Amino acid sequence: MLEIETALARILDSVSPLDPIRVPLTSALHHFAARALHATVALPGFDNSAMDGYAVFAADTTTTSPLPIIAEQPAGTSKNLTLNSGTAIRIFTGAPMPEGADAVIMQEDVDLSPDKTHIQCREPVVSGENLRRTGTDICLGQQLLKPGDALTPTRLALLASQGLNEISVIRPPRVAIITTGDELIPAGQPLLPGQLYNSNGILLQSLVAQLGISAISTHHLPDDLDQTISALRELTGTHDFLILSGGVSVGDHDHIKPALQSLGILPNLWRVKIKPGKPLLHARTETNPCQIFGLPGNPVSSYVTYQIFVRPALLKSMGSFQFELPTVPATLNQAVDNPGDRPHYLRGTLQQNTFIPTGVQQSHALFGLSQANAMLRLEANQSLAAGTNVILLVP
Ligand code: AMP
Ligand code: MG
Repeated sequence: MLEIETALARILDSVSPLDPIRVPLTSALHHFAARALHATVALPGFDNSAMDGYAVFAADTTTTSPLPIIAEQPAGTSKNLTLNSGTAIRIFTGAPMPEGADAVIMQEDVDLSPDKTHIQCREPVVSGENLRRTGTDICLGQQLLKPGDALTPTRLALLASQGLNEISVIRPPRVAIITTGDELIPAGQPLLPGQLYNSNGILLQSLVAQLGISAISTHHLPDDLDQTISALRELTGTHDFLILSGGVSVGDHDHIKPALQSLGILPNLWRVKIKPGKPLLHARTETNPCQIFGLPGNPVSSYVTYQIFVRPALLKSMGSFQFELPTVPATLNQAVDNPGDRPHYLRGTLQQNTFIPTGVQQSHALFGLSQANAMLRLEANQSLAAGTNVILLVP
C-alpha cells in the first residue's frame, strides 16, 4: 500500500497540462494563464489628478494672495494646458495634469471668490500631493501574469485595463462522473428495500464544478462487468478525466479493476494508506490520454480522496502550479485520537479558530461531512489533546 504523498506524486507525474486555447475575458474566470503577459498600457497612462480641486504650483499655496483660475481641465480629454506660476487651473479626478503643475489642492481646502474667478488656499499642499504619476501602478513591459496564474476577478480587471478582450488559457478538462452500484437509484423513484439514493453523483459533479469546469457529463453503471467495459471504452475516448465512485474494492460486485484490465488499461496505483479511502485506484490510458480515478463509494471516502488526489490532478491539467488545499491554523476543542495505521482525515467545522469534529467520523456518514468546512489530518497512531494547535485543510 502506498503512502499518501507517494501516491499523489505518482498521480501528478502522469498528468500534463492540456492544450492552450484563447477565450474571451468574459469566459476566462477560473482558468489558468497559458503564457506570461506583459503590460502594453501603462497605468496611470498620464499624470492625473487624484481629487476634484485646482492644479497649482505647491509653492503658491503657502502665499496669502488669491490665485486666479485661468482654465478648466475636465476628465476624459486633454486640453494640453500649461500652468503659469501664481495661477490655478480647475481640475477634476482623473483629468490630465496641466504642464508645470506639481500638485492639486482639494476644493474643500480653498475659498472660492464670490465671482468664482479666484481661489484662496486655506491649507498649503506639498509638491506631488493629490496627483497620480504615469506608470506608478503599472509600467510598460511590466510582467502582469506568469504561466499558471489563476484568472481571478481582479486579474481579469488587470487584463481589461490593458484593453484585452481575449486571453490564452489552458483548456479545462472534459470530465465524466460515473457512479456505480445496483443498490443506487436516482431521485424521484420510490426506495425499495436495500436501495439508497445516489448522492455521490451530485457530490462529485459539484466539486468539479467548483473548479470552474463546465464540461461535465454524468453516468450511472450497474454492477455488471460487460456494461462497465463498454462504458469505460466509450468514455475514455471522449473525456480527459473519468471520476468513478464505487466498485473499486475486491468484492464479487466490484468491476472497475477487471473492466480496466480487459481494456488493457493498467492501474498506476491501487490502495493507499489513507482513511477513509483506502481502495483508491488511478490509471491513465496511453492514447488520448484519459485520467481514470476509481474512488471508493462511501460518500466520505469519495469526498476525501477527491480532495486529496483528484483535485490536484484536475488543477495540474488546467495549467495551475498550485495544487495544495488552503490551510489555516486552529486549536482543537477536544482530544482526538487515531488508533489506526493510516492517516485519518477528520471532518469538522472551523469556528473562531477552533476545530470541532462534526458527526460520526465514519466513511458512510454524510451528515457530519455536510456540516464540515475543514479537515484535520491525524497521523497513524497519533493522539492530540484538547487545546493543541493544529493546521487544518480548508477545501
Ligand atoms: P463500493 O465502494 O461500491 O463498495 O460502495 C461502498 C458503499 O458506498 C456502499 O454502501 C454503497 O452503497 C455506497 N455508495 C456507493 N456509491 C454511492 C453513491 N453514488 N451514493 C451514495 N452511496 C454510495
Ligand atoms: Mg458498489
